[in-house]
Parts: sequence; C-alpha cells; structure tokens
Amino acid sequence: MHILNYIGGKMREPEGGGYLDNVDPATAAVTSRIPDSDARDVEEAVNAAEDAFPAWSSLSVQDRSRHLLQIADLIEERREELALAESDDTGKPVTLAETVDIPRAASNFRFYATAIEHFASESHAMGKAAFNYTLRAPIGIAGCISPWNLPLYLLTWKIAPALAAGNCVIGKPSELTPTTAFLLSGICMEAGLPAGVLNIVHGYGHRAGSAVADHPRIPVVSFTGGTETGRKIAAAAAPHFKRVSLELGGKNPNIVFADCPYEDALQTALQSSFSNQGEICLCGPRIFIERPLYETFRDDFVERTRQLTVGDPRSAGNRLGAVVSQGHMDKILSYIELARDEGGRILCGGHRVREKGRCRDGWFVAPTVIEGLPPDCRTNQEEIFGPVVSLLPFDTEEEVVTQANGTPYGLAAMLWTGNLGRAHRVADRLHAGIIWINCWMLRDLRTPFGGMKQSGVGREGGFEALRFFTEPKNVCIRM
Ligand code: NDP
Repeated sequence: MHILNYIGGKMREPEGGGYLDNVDPATAAVTSRIPDSDARDVEEAVNAAEDAFPAWSSLSVQDRSRHLLQIADLIEERREELALAESDDTGKPVTLAETVDIPRAASNFRFYATAIEHFASESHAMGKAAFNYTLRAPIGIAGCISPWNLPLYLLTWKIAPALAAGNCVIGKPSELTPTTAFLLSGICMEAGLPAGVLNIVHGYGHRAGSAVADHPRIPVVSFTGGTETGRKIAAAAAPHFKRVSLELGGKNPNIVFADCPYEDALQTALQSSFSNQGEICLCGPRIFIERPLYETFRDDFVERTRQLTVGDPRSAGNRLGAVVSQGHMDKILSYIELARDEGGRILCGGHRVREKGRCRDGWFVAPTVIEGLPPDCRTNQEEIFGPVVSLLPFDTEEEVVTQANGTPYGLAAMLWTGNLGRAHRVADRLHAGIIWINCWMLRDLRTPFGGMKQSGVGREGGFEALRFFTEPKNVCIRM
C-alpha cells in the first residue's frame, strides 16, 4: 500500500518527495510507505482548509451532521478492513480492533453529528435592564495530533467534534500507525465531504507534527500523546496564544479493598493491566491491594496472567499481540530490568516472547507482574505503557490515597469496594480526572474526559469538546 496525504480533497504526494517505512510490529516486515511530510505539506493543508472554511462553517448544523453520519456509516461498513489495518499497524489483536477501536471511531462521528444539534447557546437576563446571549462560533482551523495506541479511535475523537462545530481540520496521525487515517481519507472522499474540510498530513512528529503546533494560522490544537511531547506542543503554541488541549500520560492506580466484589475486581484488573498490551493511557499499572486480601489476590492474579495467550494478532484466540515497535519493546524490557535492579520480584513474565512462523521476528512481551517495590521507585512512578504491572499491599485508606496520588500524573483511578461511603470518600480524595468505581473503561461519551497534573490540560468529550472547538462571544443588549 502506498499511503498519501489527503489535502484539499485529493490524495497528494509529500512536497519533499520523501517516504518512511511503515512496519508491522507482529512480523517486523515493511507493509507500506508513508509520506515524510514537512512544513510545506502543512502549509498546503492550511491553504486548503482556509479555502474550505467559509462554506463549511456556514453550512447548517443539520447539513454538517449529515456528512458526519455518512462517514460513520462508511466506517461501520468497512469495519473488517479497518480493523485488520489497525491490527497490522499497532500489533493489537484484530478482534480487539474489530470490537473496540473501529466501532468507537464510528461512534465518535455519530455522537458529535448528533451532539452538535443539541449544543445550545447560553443567555443571561439582567432583570429588566439588559439581556445577554452568548454565540459560539467555529474558531477556524484545528490541528489534531494523535498517538499510535488507539489510532483511529483517538484521531476521530478529536476531528469529529472539531468538524461538527464548523472548523476545518489538519490531522496528524502517528507515523507508526498511519493506515486507518489514510483509509479514512478515502472514506471522506466517498462520503462527499467537501474538499479541504479535513486534511491529513502524515509523517514524523518532530517535522510534520511540530509544523502543525507552530503554524500561526492554526489557532487551536488538540493533542493526545506523551507528557514530554505535550510540553513541546505547549511551548510551540504559547507564543501564538493558541488554544491547546493536552491529553497526556498516566500512571493510574487501581485500588482493591478487601471488601471488594472479588471476582469482578480480579477479572477487570486483568483487563485494565493487559488490554491492548497495556498500551492504553487508562490502564492501571499500579495495583494497590488491602493487606488481608493481598496474598489471595496476588496468587489468583498471577495464575490468570499466566493463562493469557500472547501471539499472532490475527489469531482470534490471542489476548495480547505485539507491542508497537522494537524501540517500544526495548523500552518496556529496560523497565523490567530496572524493576529487578530496584529489588522487585518478577512473579510472571519479565521477558520477550519469541513466536514461530509468520510472527517469528515480531516484538512481543510476556504480561509481567512484579511485587516488592516501594511506591516511590522509578518503576512505580514512570509511565511504562506496556504489559507490566506492580502489586503493592496497603493497610489504611489514608496510606493508599497518599500513595495513589503520589506521582506527577492524574489521569484515571480505579477503586474496588463494597462500601458505598468509602467509595465516595476515596473518589473525592483521588487526584484524577476520571474515577471508576467497581468498573473500568465504562465510557459515556457525554462525560468530561481528561487528566489533571501532568496528565493534561482541558477536557474532551460531550459538550466540553464542542466548547473547546468554538469561540464564545457574548452580546449584551440594553432593554
Ligand atoms: P507521542 O507523544 O510520542 O506522540 C503523539 C503524537 O505527537 C504523534 O502523532 C507524534 O508523531 C506527535 N509528535 C511527536 N513529537 C511532536 C512534536 N514535537 N510536535 C508535534 N507533534 C509531535 O506519544 P505516543 O504516540 O508515543 O503515544 C503514547 C503516549 O500517549 C503515552 O504517554 C500515553 O499515555 C499517551 N496517551 C494519552 C491518552 C490520554 O487520553 N490522556 C490516550 C492515549 C495515549 P510521531 O509518532 O510521528 O512521532
């Protein structure tokens, strides 16, 4: 497959003519070539978006909504093809892509196609003296930069609200996982989306991505990715006074009290540890277990982890596929070494998995469970973003709240207990933008989504995203 940029409604070669290899992490084979775009391609995309903006922003909400619904329908129709492409790019099991990633990408378009119809203006009456109404206009051109772990899911989570609100968009997917964004370009053409409304520029973050963050005519940037990259984007955007939304890394605590619904807690902890090879920002790699339950939970958890099958993402039976790249595998393995050096005991996993046949050169890591590490060591503080979890016993509510909050991050937290009072009390004290009590990844797209501290700035989801992608203007009329 020859991947191209999507600019001004056409598939375009990169201006500089350079291409990068796209590699399937399950086989280490090159599957396609993608444009190594630079500032010139971003400039072309901005020109196309500016041309498209007047007509798109003045379309009726119903007409914009119809376009987005059409895109959602086509994503659903092409679910299998998109899921296979997502699996080949990321290494995730194709069944996961088919049941989670691709349906959610369609839902993102469907949700914002309908949400925009319910997005109301505010009004404030000042008694009989005056009356205010607040208009919310599209801002202009939105830059949407997304990561590799949930490629189409997270890209569409940004571009759907941006488009619904009447903006034109420049999307920059991760260069590691470009294919579904390329297929989405074709879907937009088929759906009759007007030229230039959505533009997708492929390539490296430090080249194409930074050209988006730094472009003076892109006034709003929505970014999901690592905290260090977020820092660079914030720095690039600041001199232009851009509006920026940052969804960044996490080191989420999963707190299991002894009075929890045990089987649910155990089974869900397995998912929140190892789904998508642990490469989800919402995974819970620090599992705090109340001491009376610690040994039972640990032994059951390790036994079930050992039963998880790792291997070819195309085989329906495998629960974990490959991690996204050799570089990422090496990073994960180096953290396992670090955990050993810090005095951790590896209870299972702890190594690369060598496959046979088609996947013999692929980058697979065994699901790994570690115990015996203090909460403040690097393994328990830094984001690993792989199938590695650390078990920590605790004695009191006070202690676990302090330890759970004791990282620079604050994205999500999970809490398992049968005591309603404690559930509310602890949820209130946890520093995280998303708290799940007796569940994980239960998502209602209307709710605010995002993190505090170094996990991000701003919130996505529901009307929060529509507010982010619109400029409020208050009009005051004296009666
Ligand atoms: P990165 O920060 O490396 O990259 C994210 C995106 O930014 C990619 O498209 C990347 O391009 C691009 N990029 C890189 N450097 C720059 C730059 N200087 N200017 C502009 N764009 C740039 O994250 P990963 O792709 O490695 O994703 C994993 C991270 O994402 C984890 O930390 C995870 O926690 C976080 N994440 C957060 C979520 C949240 O909702 N809070 C959800 C999912 C993931 P390229 O890949 O080509 O370098």
